[in-house]
Amino acid sequence: MENLTNINVIKEILNRHGFTFSKSLGQNFLINPSVCPKIAEMGNAAKGWGVLEIGAGIGVLTHELAKRADNVAVVEIDGRLIPILNETLSEHDNINIINEDVMKADLNKIIAENFSGLKVAVCANLPYYITSPVIMTLLESRLPIDSVTVMVQKEAGKRICAEMGTRDSGAVTAAVRYYSEPKMLFEVSRGSFLPSPNVDSCVIRLDIRKAPAVSPADERFFFRTVRGAFSQRRKNLANSLSSALNIPKEQVAAAVKAAGLPENIRPEQLGLKDFADVSDLLVKFTVQTA
Ligand code: SAM
Repeated sequence: MENLTNINVIKEILNRHGFTFSKSLGQNFLINPSVCPKIAEMGNAAKGWGVLEIGAGIGVLTHELAKRADNVAVVEIDGRLIPILNETLSEHDNINIINEDVMKADLNKIIAENFSGLKVAVCANLPYYITSPVIMTLLESRLPIDSVTVMVQKEAGKRICAEMGTRDSGAVTAAVRYYSEPKMLFEVSRGSFLPSPNVDSCVIRLDIRKAPAVSPADERFFFRTVRGAFSQRRKNLANSLSSALNIPKEQVAAAVKAAGLPENIRPEQLGLKDFADVSDLLVKFTVQTA
């Protein structure tokens, strides 16, 4: 198999297929030879595992996944890449290439059809604009998956992997920690891609929890509370929640106090359990006043 991280090899393949990079599909392909083996190894591509890859490009990561895992299914939106992938991945008989938009694909069906009896990992080097929606969709749809290993912008990775109660934490930190345990794996410089993006990246892994980290009475309201709190993170919690949830300040302040939190606490100082307690108290207040 040809070296898919060699720029001359890549250019020859792309030219032969008349392929030009699509900026709108976030097509920055990995050319640093050390990155894909690391993603595959740290992303659980191994015997007994099936790997769902999102966004194949010319198959440089797919190849490393298929060498290690029992089965690989890869969802790639760009139909122009399918003949290229059929060529570059022809040595493998354990890859199913699916030409679909991951946001519209039936991932439950893909997992059931490709990974029966296997543990399931997701691995992806995605366009940055779609990373958060894809991560949240994977988590919220409660797919039967064990881990999600994904390349993200360095700053986004810091936010996602932040501890709750620290300055870097935000609504996305809380949502990710509710469903999973995030880990920062390693950084990837912008020069590792062709073409080179203008930001550095990192690879993170989310180990999916068997059950959510906390058990709020009303999950939807819990997430409204978290988003509302961080929508005005400079304000104290009572003020930001009062305006975001349209609940009188006195009731929110009472809930903050009843949850055992200081009156002037700021959103970034709360843990997940604190958010669950406050949202449980507020959901009751809203029911009483309805
Ligand atoms: N995995 C390859 C690599 O590391 O070189 C390609 C990574 S490139 C950053 C992102 C890939 O995702 C591109 O191949 C692009 O066509 C594909 N893609 C973009 N949007 C997608 C979507 N909604 N569903 C599936 N694939 C998508």
